[in-house]
Amino acid sequence: NSVFEHVVRAPEDPILGVTVAYNKDSSPLKLNLGVGAYRTEEGKPLVLNVVRRAEQMLLNDSSRVKEYLPIVGLADFNKLSAKLILGADSPAIQENRVTTVQCLSGTGSLRVGGEFLARHYHQRTIYIPLPTWGNHPKVFTIAGLSVKTYRYYDPVTRGLNFQGLLEDLGSAPSGAIVLLHACAHNPTGVDPTPQQWEQIRQLIRSKALLPFFDSAYQGFASGNLDADAHSVRLFVADGGECFVAQSYAKNMGLYGERVGALSIVCKSADVASRVESQLKLVIRPMYSNPPIHGASIVATILKDRNMFQEWTIELKAMADRIINMRQQLFDALRSRGTPGDWSHIIKQIGMFTFTGLNSEQVAFITKEYHIYMTSDGRISMAGLSSRTVPHLADAIHAAVT
Ligand code: PMP
Repeated sequence: NSVFEHVVRAPEDPILGVTVAYNKDSSPLKLNLGVGAYRTEEGKPLVLNVVRRAEQMLLNDSSRVKEYLPIVGLADFNKLSAKLILGADSPAIQENRVTTVQCLSGTGSLRVGGEFLARHYHQRTIYIPLPTWGNHPKVFTIAGLSVKTYRYYDPVTRGLNFQGLLEDLGSAPSGAIVLLHACAHNPTGVDPTPQQWEQIRQLIRSKALLPFFDSAYQGFASGNLDADAHSVRLFVADGGECFVAQSYAKNMGLYGERVGALSIVCKSADVASRVESQLKLVIRPMYSNPPIHGASIVATILKDRNMFQEWTIELKAMADRIINMRQQLFDALRSRGTPGDWSHIIKQIGMFTFTGLNSEQVAFITKEYHIYMTSDGRISMAGLSSRTVPHLADAIHAAVT
């Protein structure tokens, strides 16, 4: 008998498990819309040209070695990442009151930020939107925070429950942490308008709540890096403090390289440097220091004018293809006369459409049409193509009629 005989089988991850099921399906019609990874019109993963170019340059540079990075990661990468999200002219950066540490993509940045807060912040409660990315409650709970939700999505309007959001944050205890999706809210695709962001900012500041932005889709939502950073910059512009977790998984297509950053905007340079010293104590026993390759790719691209420009063009092309898929799916449902109002498909923002399909309808679509998605009815628009839209539209039509 094994000493692990008592270990019970854990369920698959609700998102990554969709891919496991997809891989087991032998149908030629099968389509994976579960995981949020960009696919080309041909259904293939995409490595950006500018990324290939940066990798070639790194490869040709014989002075490069494989030494450990510092605990906080690659210095250039950290500086350039802060500039990318906060803006090149950000006073917070000029005043040296931002500390940025390279982390293991968006997830690792949230985890390190969460653990720092659990150790050093007076409030242990973090409010996350309902619904949110399925990993948020797990990451913050294991980091030592206590997770509560605020109302976000209204299934009736398939839009923002703004009143509910204001009420819930309005009754949160003073100082509580608030997780905000910087843009392209996952899974709903519903973002506040600029006016609503301003109201949220006023409420958060008036109650001394602490904003923690999750920025997993900068540039990927609208195709414009500055537009997608609007919410974060609004909060930094008032001089207050905030956390930002950045991921380069989607916007540079660096999923498996695990490259991201945590920035903490502080009131003063002195606080920022003390905060950084404590971040090192969080990171060291967790993974010692981050990997070098992905961060080197990002730094190479961000510091070169031409490469940066090339990146923004490729990024815009990805965003535009996703927006185009929304239109095609909407048109396909309309031409089939599928019952219901499907305008949310073209109104929602970012990688995902929150279809409104329930878990039985999702199960039906998977069984009969071999189309895989998360059971909450979220589909990755980036996994669709002109070729597969009709198949999905047929499936949705059959599921709701
Ligand atoms: N936050 C949100 C909202 C996300 O959608 C994702 C990616 N699915 C992440 C964070 C983190 O992804 P990664 O760790 O791959 O950067």
